[in-house]
Amino acid sequence: MKAAILSIGEELTSGQCVDTNSAWLSQSLIALGLTVTRHLTVADDLEAIEAAFRESMVGTDLVIATGGLGPTPDDLTREALAKALGVTLEHSEVAEAQIRAFFERWGKRFRDSNLGQARMPLGCTVLENARGTAPGIYFDGPACRVFVLPGVPSEMKPMFERHVAPGLSGTGSVTISAAVRCFGLSEADLGDRLADMMVRTRNPLIGVTASGAILTVRAKATGCSGIEARRLIDADLDEIRTRIAERVFGSGADGLEDAVAKLLLESGQTLATAESCTGGLLAKRLTDVPGSSAFFLSGAISYANQAKVDLLGVPAGLIESEGAVSEAVARSMGVGCRSSARSDYALAITGIAGPDGGLSPEKPVGLVFIALATESGCDVRRCLFGDHLSRCEIRGRAVNVALDMLRLRLLRPAC
Ligand code: ATP
Ligand code: MG
Repeated sequence: MKAAILSIGEELTSGQCVDTNSAWLSQSLIALGLTVTRHLTVADDLEAIEAAFRESMVGTDLVIATGGLGPTPDDLTREALAKALGVTLEHSEVAEAQIRAFFERWGKRFRDSNLGQARMPLGCTVLENARGTAPGIYFDGPACRVFVLPGVPSEMKPMFERHVAPGLSGTGSVTISAAVRCFGLSEADLGDRLADMMVRTRNPLIGVTASGAILTVRAKATGCSGIEARRLIDADLDEIRTRIAERVFGSGADGLEDAVAKLLLESGQTLATAESCTGGLLAKRLTDVPGSSAFFLSGAISYANQAKVDLLGVPAGLIESEGAVSEAVARSMGVGCRSSARSDYALAITGIAGPDGGLSPEKPVGLVFIALATESGCDVRRCLFGDHLSRCEIRGRAVNVALDMLRLRLLRPAC
């Protein structure tokens, strides 16, 4: 089954907006066993859109178009599709009812200009938009089926899942992907451990990508059915988890904070943070996780030396003698934070994120001390991230190391 994807919008052809819809739709269709043969992008131009619809329908079984369904005069997709199909554009009671219901639910005023969105090419079916005002359109042609979805990705994706995907499954071979995420080993080390599984002709196909010292191992499996592909991929993921053991912290798009949150929630324990060079990034990452209020107690941004004294009880003399970026100060921050927050664990970070501020050859840009305070003491790790990394990268890496220290501690509390 062959499919074409058509993206509509001046913002796309002018390069102001990257066409993520086509990439997402391609991946979704391929996962369902379809072959995507074409991507077309056109501006908000009636004739160009009409021509693109005609062209996309030639030699394909399915066309999915996105964009141009809004209420403004530059939203021309409805009209262009009607022209391409050789039918008239008619008012649809069903579409109007859906749009009115959406406005009512959100307490917004319905305007006459919204009636334009209820005009549909004759013979097409209205697809409900649960997230916005633009209904989608479905044309069930004898040779080619056409779906038109909103351009806004958060409206397009649920409409695809609900109205398009269910009618497409079970066609041809099925390809599915999955990923496991690891931290604390090098790409080369990971490559060695998985070498025999990474042969390019193998099914599943295994690949590794690195970002911020987090390694993502992706598996892509093709089978004659979804069940077969799932079985192949699950077997590989189990094998990868066995080989990488505790370095695996999650799957899909999980972050280290998700792994830490899960372990803290399971154990019913609490955490507080004290940050200097990361400026609250650690607390932000932890509180990005829904439900974090059950384990996250407080986060201090003790940026100035005096704040380390006032908020965490770090002795001023210690800062003077050792320097704010030192193992001793990191330890004192961790212990002080844990005691003032009365939490089970505290993570503290102090370092030099750069690009300026390197203090000496012993204390260069990229030097970060990370402390994990627990009931049995306080471990401090000295990290030298290197001044080739940007300020943003150094801060991100420091947070990842902090989260991983706690994750490993929660996995093996006796150590
Ligand atoms: P509505 O006007 O009701 O929001 P629409 O279908 O007319 O729906 P567009 O006006 O075409 O949507 O697009 C709205 C926004 O959605 C764009 O400004 C852009 O940010 C985003 N968008 C549109 N098409 C794409 C695309 N192919 N990829 C990524 N984002 C897109
Ligand atoms: Mg548009």
